[in-house]
Amino acid sequence: MIDFLIIGGGVIGTALARELSHCKGRTVLLEKGRSLSGVQSTHNSALVHPPAMMPPDKGKLKSVLGKKGSFLHQQLARHFDVPVFHNGAIVTARTEEELQKLHRLKQQSEAEGIDTITLCSREELLEREPNLHPDVKGGLFMPEAMSADTSVLTERLAANARLNGAEIYTNTEVTALKKSAFGFEAETKEGRVFQSRFVINAAGAASGFIAGMIEDKVPFEPVSRRGEYLVLSRQAAGFINHIIYPPPTSLTKGVLIIPQPDGTIRLGPTDTQQKDFRSALPTKEGIDQIRHEVNMLAVELPYHFEERYYAGIRSSITDPDFYIRPSEAYPRLIHLAGLDSPGVTASPAVASYVLTEIIQNIEPVERKTEPNLFGY
Ligand SMILES: Cc1cc2nc3c(=O)[nH]c(=O)nc-3n(C[C@H](O)[C@H](O)[C@H](O)COP(=O)(O)OP(=O)(O)OC[C@H]3O[C@@H](n4cnc5c(N)ncnc54)[C@H](O)[C@@H]3O)c2cc1C
Repeated sequence: MIDFLIIGGGVIGTALARELSHCKGRTVLLEKGRSLSGVQSTHNSALVHPPAMMPPDKGKLKSVLGKKGSFLHQQLARHFDVPVFHNGAIVTARTEEELQKLHRLKQQSEAEGIDTITLCSREELLEREPNLHPDVKGGLFMPEAMSADTSVLTERLAANARLNGAEIYTNTEVTALKKSAFGFEAETKEGRVFQSRFVINAAGAASGFIAGMIEDKVPFEPVSRRGEYLVLSRQAAGFINHIIYPPPTSLTKGVLIIPQPDGTIRLGPTDTQQKDFRSALPTKEGIDQIRHEVNMLAVELPYHFEERYYAGIRSSITDPDFYIRPSEAYPRLIHLAGLDSPGVTASPAVASYVLTEIIQNIEPVERKTEPNLFGY
């Protein structure tokens, strides 16, 4: 008999498996793919967003967990020796109006206690980043921002969970979920049956599909949104030395320049709604749009070092906030939906929230006396 069955081994499900492995009880994670974090968690910008870029107007829970996660993520990266590119971010403005927006963002952040942001003049920015577009008017420097290797992080979270007794199975797709005398019964494609007292639906863009296996009415409305990228090879390393954001809009963070720990540079993402929640491919229009938008951020981009294109699917829902709640019909079934950006950043905070604010409210869970916190 399992106590906690997690469906989905992206960065969220795996961080939760580690968190639960530090508690008493049997934790099992089932992942459909050949490896963990093979879907959304590695088809993204790999950015650990700085706290100021996660304001509450895009979702209160998202903002709280994003900010907490940004801090926890830095700690985890250190403890688990995760490769990072940690040189901070520059949020740029090209017009007076955008500059005013950045002033307001700085003030709003300071009111929330974030006092690490520096307002930079055009000259200061060009000194830091000579390849920025000369039309830049000014910007904000945010030192916390970094990109991190989410594959390595997930691998190490999983290794730590296993050291603490969790069982993690890849190539294991859940095809049916129903109520049983013990709690829940999950059946896999190969016909294996797992009985568990709790089920945590952490299936990313497929969380609506999983919920639909057992709920009469899925309590959130999934919307899949494709994000495309163009990658410059590591020969382009050093062309840009910070993460570069365009001025934030009310909808998305826009198309960015994101140097990676391995020396490559990711340019993207686009944001297009699509029907298919299982896979996404880059399109010519998407790549053209990226080039167009990036050319407004920097000059003489070394496109001759283009290495590859890829796309990821955001596991969005119609509500902009994260949806992390127990099912109304079955309180021991917990849905994690709408965990789009900044889900990677927030992942350690999401794991802790699910344990302390959801599961512990349903029944007490005892922590192990001496769990191995950072071994892998
Ligand atoms: C274009 C784009 C850019 C982004 N940029 C950033 C960023 O810079 N910073 C940031 O913090 N966040 C970013 N995000 C968001 C971030 O990637 C997600 O929030 C995060 O990856 C969500 O993790 P997850 O574990 O919930 O989902 P996933 O990684 O999708 O994991 C879900 C897992 O469930 C598995 N699964 C599905 N169905 C089943 C089944 N039936 N049985 C078993 N397993 C199943 C899947 O195979 C998958 O591995 C971005 C997302 C996208 C798409």
